[in-house]
Amino acid sequence: MQKITFLNNQWQIPNNPIIGYIVGDGIGQDVTPVAINVLNAAVEKAYSNQKSINWQEVFVGEKALQQGKELLGEEALNLMKDLRITLKGPLTTPVGKGFRSLNVAIRQKLDLYACVRPVKYFPGVPNPMKHPEKLDVIIFRENTEDVYAGIEWEKGSVGVQKVRNFLISEMGVKMRPDSGIGIKPISKTGSQRLVKAAINYAINKSRKSVTLVHKGNIMKFTEGAFKNWGYQVAEQQFIEQLAKEGAGNSHDKIIIKDRIADAMFQQLLLRPDEYDVIATTNLNGDYLSDACAAQVGGLGIAPGANINYETGIAVFEATHGTAPKYAGLDKVNPGSVILSGVMLLETLGWQEAADMIVAAVTKTIQQKTVTYDLARQMENATEIKCSEFGQRIIENM
Ligand code: NAP
Repeated sequence: MQKITFLNNQWQIPNNPIIGYIVGDGIGQDVTPVAINVLNAAVEKAYSNQKSINWQEVFVGEKALQQGKELLGEEALNLMKDLRITLKGPLTTPVGKGFRSLNVAIRQKLDLYACVRPVKYFPGVPNPMKHPEKLDVIIFRENTEDVYAGIEWEKGSVGVQKVRNFLISEMGVKMRPDSGIGIKPISKTGSQRLVKAAINYAINKSRKSVTLVHKGNIMKFTEGAFKNWGYQVAEQQFIEQLAKEGAGNSHDKIIIKDRIADAMFQQLLLRPDEYDVIATTNLNGDYLSDACAAQVGGLGIAPGANINYETGIAVFEATHGTAPKYAGLDKVNPGSVILSGVMLLETLGWQEAADMIVAAVTKTIQQKTVTYDLARQMENATEIKCSEFGQRIIENM
């Protein structure tokens, strides 16, 4: 077995890479082992003995505490850096232990600036739309800035008084005395590396368009600047491959366009097939990715990855939480971690194994042998356990 390396902005993948995994808290113990079984089976079926994954556990969250380690210690972070690619189950947000959220802390400490969420329809999944298949987007959401930078002060605190005094006396700002204050930094560096990642993705995967989503009509120097910096990086680095919406001679080029966030929600409902790759700031991306996932009925099975394309460090993760009431019951849907694993396989370049899983998940859902969350919305479905769902996927490969 060998470690994955990263040279000239490219992952170098051996045939038997070591990949990290974080089981996760709550239902992590149910879904993560099932996902690993499905991934192993797909790799074995696709490549016989030519390729295999060597999984190495990274202790974070409750499992780390059980081992006498910190919730998110340096050892775990260094291992994730060293192995570069990790599959992660959900983690509980500790209350009053110094982290706003372990998930956010992992993204920030490893500078995983792109939250990548593909959203498309799996035939057979119950959903609220007439044509759910028309939505097929990849959302690139900035992960380190905007409201997730977590800069805020509570009403009445010493901090809020200092900031308020400064804003009133030095900047001429008017503000009620009973305000809390939050600061939303959005940088040129952070915006351009995110937009660049989205454009590179669109080029590599032959997608049709990249849409910059922002609220720049109101917040000109953060949201508006995100849009301007996005177009700037497109012009400076991708002039050959891109054309601005409405420009002539755009044949054979990827279209780059922008939309104001509120209009974008309407557009994705009314004309979903006009959108493809989406690049956006943190909070817009938070709302948009859940809204899109709901539109295809897939909130419970939506996959995601957090990636730094400059260091080659990536964490592929379930997008749902730890659902503690179902922990250990072998009941919940493992689809989100499994499909995050599909993104992981695609990153390794093991497309055959990735395609095999997607086809088998689709078939299993169409056979209506599904976990409780899908079964309760489908007619004549057979409810099966989390582990049985994984087994059916393997049998359907
Ligand atoms: P949650 O754990 O996602 O659970 C909310 C509800 O979503 C569940 O009660 C269940 O709905 C459904 N659900 C979630 N995962 C499912 C699955 N795999 N299969 C089927 N249904 C599933 O959200 P939460 O209760 O707000 O958060 C619990 C903890 O998770 C918190 O500590 C939170 O901070 C953390 N969290 C972690 C992550 C992450 O690790 N990335 C993300 C979000 C939240 P029904 O009750 O209707 O069956």
